[in-house]
Amino acid sequence: MCGIVGYVGDKDALPILIRGLKGLEYRGYDSSGVAFIQNDNLKVIKKKGRIKILEEMLTADGYLSEGDDKPAQSDIHMGIGHTRWATHGAPSDENSHPHLSENGRICVVHNGIIENYIELRQLLTEKGYTFISETDTEVVAHLIEYHFYFDCNQDIFASVREALLEIEGSYALGVLCTDFPDLMIAARKDSPLVVGIGDHENFVASDIPAILSYTREILIVEDNEIIVLTKKDVKLYSVHGVLIQRDPIHIDWDSEAAEKGGYEHFMMKEMSEEPKAVRSTVAPRLRNGKIVLDQFPLSAEQIRAARNIHIVACGTAYHAGCVGKYVIEKLCRIPVIVDVASEFRYRDPLVDNQTIVIIISQSGETLDTLAAMREAKSRGASIISIVNVVGSSISREADYVMYTAAGPEIAVASTKAYNTQLACMYLLAFEMSHLIGKISDEEYRTYQDKLLEIPEMIEKVLESRSEIQRFASEHFNADSIFFIGRGLDYALSMEASLKLKEISYIHSEAYPGGELKHGTIALIEKGTLVVCPLTQDSLMDKMISNIQEVRARGAVVLGITTEKQTRASEVCDQVFYIPDVDPLLAPIVAVTPCQLFAYYMSVYKGCDVDKPRNLAKSVTVE
Ligand code: GLU
Repeated sequence: MCGIVGYVGDKDALPILIRGLKGLEYRGYDSSGVAFIQNDNLKVIKKKGRIKILEEMLTADGYLSEGDDKPAQSDIHMGIGHTRWATHGAPSDENSHPHLSENGRICVVHNGIIENYIELRQLLTEKGYTFISETDTEVVAHLIEYHFYFDCNQDIFASVREALLEIEGSYALGVLCTDFPDLMIAARKDSPLVVGIGDHENFVASDIPAILSYTREILIVEDNEIIVLTKKDVKLYSVHGVLIQRDPIHIDWDSEAAEKGGYEHFMMKEMSEEPKAVRSTVAPRLRNGKIVLDQFPLSAEQIRAARNIHIVACGTAYHAGCVGKYVIEKLCRIPVIVDVASEFRYRDPLVDNQTIVIIISQSGETLDTLAAMREAKSRGASIISIVNVVGSSISREADYVMYTAAGPEIAVASTKAYNTQLACMYLLAFEMSHLIGKISDEEYRTYQDKLLEIPEMIEKVLESRSEIQRFASEHFNADSIFFIGRGLDYALSMEASLKLKEISYIHSEAYPGGELKHGTIALIEKGTLVVCPLTQDSLMDKMISNIQEVRARGAVVLGITTEKQTRASEVCDQVFYIPDVDPLLAPIVAVTPCQLFAYYMSVYKGCDVDKPRNLAKSVTVE
């Protein structure tokens, strides 16, 4: 969610900051700004709206040259930039970051939430500080200034440390101080932050793609750590001031992976990458007829002894968990509870050392999920995580991490990450079920073979995308769309409905096929669009009845089914066929037409497909 970029080095800072911020745009934001020191003064330029507007302001002020992001003047070699996703105070110029301290000699950018900002604001107000924004962040700037003069002997590092010890909540922070014109300070707790190490230049950023075109040497910053950067040096400290030694990691993926590569939208590019992403997630883990989960921490005895399994996640990852519940319960015969992370954490969950908790998060930084994981861990549960971003907080803190090999996902609406989360879920379910003897060796091998066939099936779906496009072109004016399905098709329907809402802003709901008649069918009228995944052969008769029920009330029905289900065309107005896939594995293939449907609806409606309103990619606030 939102982003920070900082640069200190020999080059011109502003083009680097702007480029870096653009590289973080996918995370979602509503305003942006930069700060730098010039003639012993902190200069802050910030504005509500897209980075483009900020860029225009910088150009108008002579800081960037016309037309590209080349510098117009070159005496600025250090600066911080920020994209804000408003949590406290509306998106506005005043609330945009950076925020200055009272005397204007310290400035701060912040991602996250300062939870005790009301108390701190009161305290600082009593000491004579005035606030010009509604943000929680402004207290940080004033608090650092307060310590700077009051008890830290004008030492900026000590002042930041003192301030951090008083702050509660989450933060990634960047700090500049005019008294230290060659030095930048950054810190993190529960909001992502990395350091890029270059030659006579160093960077901070919320995410690696923002700085990958400058350096591949990345230092992962952990919670409660402070970094002091100069162009020659990066020093990492604990919040208590103890120096920490940590080697950077070398990033070997390409920044091109985070670029559009000829596609009109990241979302289409990322859907096109699904076959490859699933293959890369599955194939390396299948060896000689076995599923190889290196150093998987659970023994057959531990799995058998598990009272239950909790799957905890948010949004799309939660829907992957809903599929996981069906699959694990069917194959392992262990009760599975799927929980939305923000609910799990606060409802005193029945979790102990006989509980297995599966945590799913694309970014590995989703704060609700991270907090839920910590809660489960503190109660003694074994934590298995399914994460896309290597080195992220969840991946580091879980007992075991299964990485999805989806590659960078930039579009806010998650697509390939979902398919790969499902791939991991299947691998996990097959392996655990085999370990505890619930499936035979033969079934175990057959499932592996079937999983290997999935990428090709998704490829076929993608090849027929024009059918979905045509359907979307006829229906993009719909006010409300229902998705109904039974069993795994219901789990899939939830994800399909979310995808549509996220990027096309069309109201949509997902219901179990048999549930609509208990209330919601009242909303079906002539012309209401109902989308029905029909991949569960054993539930086909029941679904046909449910389709008849809605059609009798005027609904127009799109069925998504497998090639062998020829009956679908008799009851649906239109049918999209996916290859014949084992019903247990169907969601990983059938989700793609649903994603394509959401995509085309969004395109026809003229929405911002990759950056839908009000949404952020990596939700690092509660
Ligand atoms: N809570 C801060 C604000 O509302 C920072 C939000 C962000 O993470 O961008 O200004």
